[in-house]
Amino acid sequence: MLLAAPYSHAFIALGSNLENPIHHILQAFDELAKLPTSRLLEYSSLYRSAPVGRLDQPDFINAVALIETALSPQALLNALLAIEQQHGRIRESLNAPRTLDLDILMIDDLQCKENNLTLPHPRMHQRAFVLQPLMEISPNCHIPGQGTIAQSLAACSEQRLEQVKENDIK
Ligand code: AMP
Repeated sequence: MLLAAPYSHAFIALGSNLENPIHHILQAFDELAKLPTSRLLEYSSLYRSAPVGRLDQPDFINAVALIETALSPQALLNALLAIEQQHGRIRESLNAPRTLDLDILMIDDLQCKENNLTLPHPRMHQRAFVLQPLMEISPNCHIPGQGTIAQSLAACSEQRLEQVKENDIK
């Protein structure tokens, strides 16, 4: 008898601030839905946020998606890097503008620190542009090793963030 593949739940943060960012994010939702052995379960509204670290660049559009997947964490990371490449992502420098950034925030309760993958994402609890959309699709979610999203969000209430209006999404 075949056993069902073990599925995990992965939250993914999306960000873009180059070449029609809204379009890049909407297209990335579709691409996440088409990942092998995966299903797109939820996706948040789009948010506009001020750049962090390097201020001389356009505002970002951000969102968070939840997928169910049988991909291993490493296979998921590779698939996300491939999607970034398809969007013409150029890795210029840390905090540089980008057509598409896809980060794995959490995979179930997994905590890991490997060469190329840290889970939960090490900076997620400091970023309103991650926490607010995450709160929208999973309000009771807990960040392994950190606490509730509400606690983290309260600690970064000074960060500027606004929901993108329906009329701005074409
Ligand atoms: P960046 O696109 O600048 O966010 O950096 C992506 C790189 O960060 C990837 O090549 C990964 O090897 C590494 N990385 C470490 N942890 C994560 C994570 N949780 N999600 C995505 N990338 C990660």
